[in-house]
Amino acid sequence: MQNILVTGGCGFIGSNFVRLALGRLPDCRLVNLDKLTYAGNPANLADIAADPRYRFVQGDICDAPLVEKIFAEEGIDTVVHFAAESHVDRSIDGPAAFIQTNIVGTFTLLEAARRFWLGETSPGPAPATRRCFLHVSTDEVYGSLGETGLFTEQTPFDPRSPYSASKASSDHLVSAYFHTYGLPTVITNCSNNYGPYHFPEKLIPLIINNALNGKDLPVYGDGKNVRDWLYVVDHCSAILSVLRNGEPGQTYNIGGNNEKQNLEVVQTICDLLDEKVGPLPGGLPRRGLIKFVKDRPGHDRRYAIDANKIRTELGWSPSVSFEEGIRKTIDWYLANGAWIQSVLDGSYQEYYRKMYEGR
Ligand code: NAD
Repeated sequence: MQNILVTGGCGFIGSNFVRLALGRLPDCRLVNLDKLTYAGNPANLADIAADPRYRFVQGDICDAPLVEKIFAEEGIDTVVHFAAESHVDRSIDGPAAFIQTNIVGTFTLLEAARRFWLGETSPGPAPATRRCFLHVSTDEVYGSLGETGLFTEQTPFDPRSPYSASKASSDHLVSAYFHTYGLPTVITNCSNNYGPYHFPEKLIPLIINNALNGKDLPVYGDGKNVRDWLYVVDHCSAILSVLRNGEPGQTYNIGGNNEKQNLEVVQTICDLLDEKVGPLPGGLPRRGLIKFVKDRPGHDRRYAIDANKIRTELGWSPSVSFEEGIRKTIDWYLANGAWIQSVLDGSYQEYYRKMYEGR
């Protein structure tokens, strides 16, 4: 029996991971610790909430007594750490929460794992099961690429936004706990994800939602920034591979080898929606809604991942192409209009006005 603590399991990637893990690991018990910020939504896991192997705890990863209580009560032997403030634009507007959750929160979890797995001052008894603290991070820690080249696990960190700087900081802390204390940690640095349950402040769900409703499609700068897109379930299956066979102290880059310019992604969504639901009233193709807006400060030009290590050492590879994944994603949003409406509350509207109106 594996006792897994997932943090941030009500967010986009976390909820997809919880669903996949419960499906693939019949013998696991899984506790989901989530603060339920604007990005956390228990409805993302409504279908598995009654599973007896699953327990939800609403709380903050910075709350050390709570984290320790969960370790003690549940005999946690595996941590999969997703919880984070995750949106670059919000980090530019208000970095404090990013420092608190992404750095202090990660530190709090590491300290709990150190106490419970290694003892306060000397190593505890050998574990019955393989312990693993898996820290989920981003390729944004590596900074920005030029026209060519790929991020490898050896690429030096060069974060450019408060978000990526806070994630880089947490990655360094995790690595330090391996080298200093021998805590069995692994880090994954993944490229941009897309798929079901993605909060509509991020590019792909934002464009789907706006394009469906005939609203402007804001594209930063010249639209030529490149991201390497990965279908979220493929990211989650990579995490399961790392949990199973990853080597303590190692970092694994995860990516789908799907480099796309932002404008190309937006145009693809427009064309697919025109095909699936018909053009807008008056026969206007959705590409006509594209509006170039003032660029994000410090906007990284290009990210692209070399995922050779996880492919060759752990035998993982993505199973969904971008062409298939973007269709699946659009179909999911078309079938889940009520979910979109439920997350587009007053605070989202306020955020949206601040970000895009008058830009
Ligand atoms: P998200 O914003 O959708 O979800 C974050 C979740 O964490 C939410 O459920 C939120 O309520 C919870 N949370 C936030 N602060 C918390 C706190 N203090 N205590 C407990 N819970 C808290 O994020 P996501 O897109 O699912 O990303 C998950 C992780 O994956 C993050 O660490 C992110 O850096 C990393 N990542 C994301 C991407 C991507 O494309 N989205 C790519 C690579 C890595």
